[in-house]
Amino acid sequence: MTIKTIFLDRDGVINKEVNYLYKIDDFKFIDGIFDACLHFQQLGFQIIIVTNQSGIERGYYTEADYQLITEWMLVQFENRGIKILDIFHCPHGSNSTCSCRKPQPGMFLKAESKYNINMQKSWMIGDREIDIVAANRAGITNTILIKTGYLIEESSSNASFTLDSIQHSLKLISIK
Ligand SMILES: [Zn+2]
Repeated sequence: MTIKTIFLDRDGVINKEVNYLYKIDDFKFIDGIFDACLHFQQLGFQIIIVTNQSGIERGYYTEADYQLITEWMLVQFENRGIKILDIFHCPHGSNSTCSCRKPQPGMFLKAESKYNINMQKSWMIGDREIDIVAANRAGITNTILIKTGYLIEESSSNASFTLDSIQHSLKLISIK
């Protein structure tokens, strides 16, 4: 048995982009994210978050800070009937040679083997090209770049689709 998954980036997809976010007060959910997750769930997708958190290695916040905001975030999802299967984070800095920091595919590959995920039936939704590249490297070909937070070079992007907001993904991902 394999499962199909919607992989979500965190900053810029779930919550509004804030540099080195770790305070709960600064965590603002993006409009439509809960509806989108409920929709994906109803289609039988599991939801997994994959997030670069270099602020940990850079010393802007600690692993404990990260875990606190993560637990809080999970409660917000649970309160709306959304189950996040797992969250993978890379704590390393940009000079790291780790295999988990996107655009490296490590977090996706870890998820794939932990949950026996069918990557061909899965999707990645991110707001930066590194999200798309990482997913492609892990064998995910269904990718969506959301235009939030970062300027996007649509023409040079590897994404399958570029959308103005996560709401637009509901029509796109609509088949069981
Ligand atoms: Zn890493």
